[in-house]
Amino acid sequence: MKTKYIFLTGGVLSSVGKGVTAAALGRLLKERDFKIAIQKLDPYINVDPGTMSPYQHGEVFVLDDGAETDLDLGHYERFIDNSLNQVCNVTTGQVYEEVITKERRGDYLGGTIQVIPHITNEIKRRIGLVAKTTGAEIVLIEVGGTVGDIESLPFLESLRQMRSDVGRKNSFYIHVTWLPHIGATGELKTKPTQHSVRELRSIGIAPDMIIARSDYPVDEEIEDKIALFCDVDKHAVVPMVTTDILYQIPLTLEKASVGDFITKRMELEIRKKPVWDEWESMVQNMRQEKPSLKVAIVGKYVELHDAYMSVKEALHHAGNANGVDIEIAWIHSAELEKEGKLQQLEEVQGIIVPGGFGERGIEGKIAAIKFARENHIPYLGLCLGMQLMVVEFARHVLDDEQPNSTEFDPSTPHPVIDLMPDQRDITDMGGTMRLGLYPCQLQKNTRAADAYQQDLVKERHRHRFEFNNAYRDILKNEGMLYSGLSPEGRLVEIAELETHPFMIGTQFHPEFLSRPNRPHPLFKAFIEAILEKDGMK
Ligand code: GLN
Repeated sequence: MKTKYIFLTGGVLSSVGKGVTAAALGRLLKERDFKIAIQKLDPYINVDPGTMSPYQHGEVFVLDDGAETDLDLGHYERFIDNSLNQVCNVTTGQVYEEVITKERRGDYLGGTIQVIPHITNEIKRRIGLVAKTTGAEIVLIEVGGTVGDIESLPFLESLRQMRSDVGRKNSFYIHVTWLPHIGATGELKTKPTQHSVRELRSIGIAPDMIIARSDYPVDEEIEDKIALFCDVDKHAVVPMVTTDILYQIPLTLEKASVGDFITKRMELEIRKKPVWDEWESMVQNMRQEKPSLKVAIVGKYVELHDAYMSVKEALHHAGNANGVDIEIAWIHSAELEKEGKLQQLEEVQGIIVPGGFGERGIEGKIAAIKFARENHIPYLGLCLGMQLMVVEFARHVLDDEQPNSTEFDPSTPHPVIDLMPDQRDITDMGGTMRLGLYPCQLQKNTRAADAYQQDLVKERHRHRFEFNNAYRDILKNEGMLYSGLSPEGRLVEIAELETHPFMIGTQFHPEFLSRPNRPHPLFKAFIEAILEKDGMK
């Protein structure tokens, strides 16, 4: 079958959930037995989001192959449950880097290099790589930002050209817009959608479907109006009302016959009728009232929950599997450094210190870890959260405040966390960490091995620093277990405390592999440990 392309553009506003919509559409087609991949085209000039502040961009999502990508890739993987690869996130920076490298090499000798066709051809080449590298039959492509942004023009022009390149039945354009609500009259307005579609048409793209996001129910009159003014089929105007449970969206789109409309219009064979029973009962389960647990996420970007998107999702997946709701207490690590602020932790039943970089708030995180250790509160440390768990334990057993990671104190006499030798001479910041999937051998009779029920697992990494092996024996003698090691035994991948009900730190990021219907074993075990400790199990 020839590769089919579904393009998603955004109109009116950003942040209306275009990424989740793309992810949900992917699920709709996967349920029909097609091989799916999703690609995000990001118009910014950074080569990848790896060097951006989480305040700017939210979480950096890491793929198996080590690509540092937009957080929407996390939604894609959670919904379609296929591992994506580095070609699935393209930025303007990557496109220009490639074209300029070729120009310097002399590949275009004699030619003038222009946005059309050189940049647009490179964009189209990268779109083409998705099917080639993943084997996908249908590729969904989401363009970041909104129509009208200067930066996204080359991407939109490439999308426009794709229709004649691949043909009408192999391309489908969806415009995701927003219907503002006017409080005074209680009305939803379609005008911004009309304007946005007009803008899209002026670029040469006529949408085949409009997904209209709204905080309020959309009546038929509004749908008719959008169909008429924007010149789309009435069945192709799909209202999508805001929901608190993201995983509801595929069901909503299915009910609106979006899957059938697209398959018919793209002349896709009917392979399988979608069966939603399992997904539906998962969503129903999420919706049901359940006892609630309070878990703290102690980080320095907590004002922006998107910075911890995958951790948040992984917690909810694990809660759902254990029949409890998870209420997240977002605690700023720098706050915990202030007098009397640690008391906040008395109200939580579990503590997570997620990944992070830089010195701000480090002592607050260490204080939270100490609190978890001393009060026997279940603790899960993710990457930096593992490194600081080691620092805190070393300070305790050596009865000395100086042990540290050399990331925060380069001259500490006890560098329990230190740079890996192969990281020492690297000065570039972009894409130079230990990134992507690495194997981890679990050690028998540990909590981590119990949780996984496997000997060897592969997990995703993103860090420069590592456990310093010079301290292995010292800390082991005091009760630290190395429950996961790299297969040759050189690197500590998981550490845990023997005499604590649940104190585990992972050098990798388990949150990236959690799925709504397949919670990550360590998150699941973490929630179980809380339930056991509180006599709820
Ligand atoms: N800053 C630490 C390192 O580079 C931890 C990174 C992380 O938490 N992802 O090793």
